Amino acid sequence: MTKYLKKCEDCGKYGLKNKNSMCIHCGGTLINPKPPKFSPVDKYQKYRISYFKKEFDEKFERK
Ligand SMILES: [Zn+2]
Repeated sequence: MTKYLKKCEDCGKYGLKNKNSMCIHCGGTLINPKPPKFSPVDKYQKYRISYFKKEFDEKFERK
């Protein structure tokens, strides 16, 4: 499977990625058929939460 395959947001048909990200069938916007499993934002949030949790645990232990 090619990674350049995109899905049309409007008609749901598949098409190859092109310069304008435009569907050849209806002129709609081409999107990625499968969103990435882990987004960089989620990864960062997870890291941040574990960081603050560690800091919180350390403060709690000092009480
Ligand atoms: Zn379309």
